[in-house]
Amino acid sequence: MIKVALFDMDGVLYDSMGNHAVAWVQSMKKFGINMTADDAYATEGARGVDTIRYMVKQQQNRDITEAEAQAMYDEKSRIFHSMKEAPIMPGIIELMEQIKQAGISIGIVTGSGQRPLIARILKDFGQFVSPEHITTAYDVKRGKPNPDPYLVGLQKAGNIAPTEAIVIENAPLGIRAGVAAGIYTIAVNTGPLSDQVLLDAGANILFPSVKALSDSFNSFLSERCPF
Ligand code: CA
Repeated sequence: MIKVALFDMDGVLYDSMGNHAVAWVQSMKKFGINMTADDAYATEGARGVDTIRYMVKQQQNRDITEAEAQAMYDEKSRIFHSMKEAPIMPGIIELMEQIKQAGISIGIVTGSGQRPLIARILKDFGQFVSPEHITTAYDVKRGKPNPDPYLVGLQKAGNIAPTEAIVIENAPLGIRAGVAAGIYTIAVNTGPLSDQVLLDAGANILFPSVKALSDSFNSFLSERCPF
């Protein structure tokens, strides 16, 4: 019996990864860091400050503090929020309605530390999720691909066991985090990466879109779900 469904945010709740990629490329360029759109997709799900510290180490061979990385991340956030608001992912509302009807609670687990996005979650999905069931970059020291964010998500959902949960993720690092937490992890491929990249990260099952998952969610629950 599944008690909670833990959703990633970017690329799952919102079709936002295109905007994020542009914001990453433009912001890092200002700091002399060459970050490509591919880099943005490959590192998606990690805490922004962790991605920045890694890129600076790789390209400039220096260690920067979390505060320095946060200042750079603030510029990335500023650019992101100057862009047109990313749309809600097609199929996500229908999927959450089915999950709610099945008696399964919903949590959000994001590597994002962008507070306006958290407010937007409550505006768009407030009928499905309450504020205390949202896990963000500020709740963990170690972000995805470590299991910590999803373990915190389980705690916030009411100390649910990993075997009583599912994760819905779109990115390799997020999938690895869900799998590392011992949770059945559903991949939805909403971006440009190949299916194989998501399966290699350990996804238990893959759907080509959130809408495809929504369309077959009831049969998934009755037939394919292993518990
Ligand atoms: Ca994501």
